[in-house]
Amino acid sequence: PDRSFSGRRALVTGAGKGIGRAAALALSGAGAQVIALSRTQADLQSLEGTGIETLCVDLGDWDATEAALSKVGAIDLLVNNAAVSVLQPFLEVTKEAFDRSFDVNLRAVFHVSQIIARQMIARGVQGVIVNISSQASQRALQDHAVYCSTKSALDMLTKVMALELGPHKIRVNSVNPTVVMTDMGRINWSEPQKAAAMISRIPLRKFAEVDDVVNSILFLLSDKSAMTTGVSLPVDGGFLVS
Ligand code: NDP
Repeated sequence: PDRSFSGRRALVTGAGKGIGRAAALALSGAGAQVIALSRTQADLQSLEGTGIETLCVDLGDWDATEAALSKVGAIDLLVNNAAVSVLQPFLEVTKEAFDRSFDVNLRAVFHVSQIIARQMIARGVQGVIVNISSQASQRALQDHAVYCSTKSALDMLTKVMALELGPHKIRVNSVNPTVVMTDMGRINWSEPQKAAAMISRIPLRKFAEVDDVVNSILFLLSDKSAMTTGVSLPVDGGFLVS
């Protein structure tokens, strides 16, 4: 078996469900010591017996996040995956949806990354950060004004973090998937006509699988991408070139 991440400690946010959960399990399977952070205790409890450590906190809560991360210990690999998608027509966007989305999808990435990058620098390790963005960062999608805005900002944050953390030997990249049928994907894309319209715009004519995204996350976390920083890697079947 591939044990290429042995000796590394990884923190994955939003690891209770979906892509984050699969990434946490894959990293653990490849030898990393994994800390799965999420919001719902039951999801984390279901990871018991896998050897994965868990941390239950709402990343929308700044102070609770800081308190939780103070106990997390040394981290070499960080996956900023937690996000919410609240779809509303632009004219009906609420303050609550705006604030919650930016707090979780963007502000928490700043905060978690600051805390982890500071201790990576203090320890002198060659840390790696992967942010989970979306094709929605680079294309306008109906009812996605808030979500697209958070992910577009996340792509730029990825670049500035790469610029400033590079001299400390920390790499920062994002993966930008098309639709994946996780809970988030099912809520937003189960309507057959809506799904068919999206699939018709994807050159490979299908949505991404969770494993497609996880494989790209692991590549960007690994030494196989040692000279790559500041990029957004599409996992989109070609949507962004269509
Ligand atoms: P899911 O909704 O299936 O899972 C998201 C996970 O993040 C859940 O465990 C959720 O916990 C957790 N989470 C959400 N908010 C918080 C919070 N405030 N604090 C802590 N944990 C939180 O989403 P996906 O797996 O589909 O998405 C993962 C990433 O991939 C996201 O960044 C998303 O934007 C991105 N993405 C997804 C696509 C898709 O079509 N699915 C397409 C492109 C990008 P809980 O359920 O308890 O709130």
